[in-house]
Amino acid sequence: MGKLGNETLRAQLGRRTWYLLHVMASRYPTEPTKDEVSAMKNFLFLMSRLYPCGDCAHHFQQHLKKHPPVASSRDELEQYLCRMHNTVNKVLKKPQFDCATVHDNYDCGCGPDNVRYKPDGAKP
Ligand SMILES: Cc1cc2nc3c(=O)[nH]c(=O)nc-3n(C[C@H](O)[C@H](O)[C@H](O)COP(=O)(O)OP(=O)(O)OC[C@H]3O[C@@H](n4cnc5c(N)ncnc54)[C@H](O)[C@@H]3O)c2cc1C
Repeated sequence: MGKLGNETLRAQLGRRTWYLLHVMASRYPTEPTKDEVSAMKNFLFLMSRLYPCGDCAHHFQQHLKKHPPVASSRDELEQYLCRMHNTVNKVLKKPQFDCATVHDNYDCGCGPDNVRYKPDGAKP
C-alpha cells in the first residue's frame, strides 16, 4: 500500500476506522462462535494488509505480529482494540485512553445486543 502523505486525509481515515473497530467490538457477541472468532481475527489481518495508508498498515501489521488478536469475547476484543489504539496514540504522542470506559463510549445503541440477527426463514 502506498504512503498516504496527506495528513488531513490520514487523520480522517484513522478516526473513522477506529470508530468502526470500536463499535464492531461493542456489538461483538459476548459468547462468539468459533466461526465468529476466526472471522474477526481474519478481518483484522486482512484490514492490516489493505489499510489505505502504507506506513499505518505497516505499524498495524507489526502490532498484530507482536500482539495477536484476542477475540474470545466482546470484553476481550474491546480491551484488545483499546490497547492497540493506545499503542498508536503513544507513537503519535496523543493522550492515553482509559480502557475501563471503552464499552460505555462505543455502545452504538442500535438494538438489543443479546439478539442475534437471523435472515428471513433461517431456523433459530
Ligand atoms: C490501525 C491504525 C493504525 C494507524 N497508524 C498510524 C500511523 O502509523 N501514523 C499516523 O500518523 N496515523 C496512524 N493512524 C491514525 C491515527 O491513529 C489517528 O486516527 C489520527 O491521527 C487522528 O487522531 P485523532 O486525534 O483525531 O484521534 P483518534 O486516535 O483517531 O481517535 C478518535 C477518538 O477515539 C477515542 N480514543 C482515543 N484513544 C482510544 C482508545 N485507546 N480506545 C478507544 N477510543 C479511543 C477518542 O475519543 C478520540 O477522539 C492509524 C490508524 C489506525 C486505525
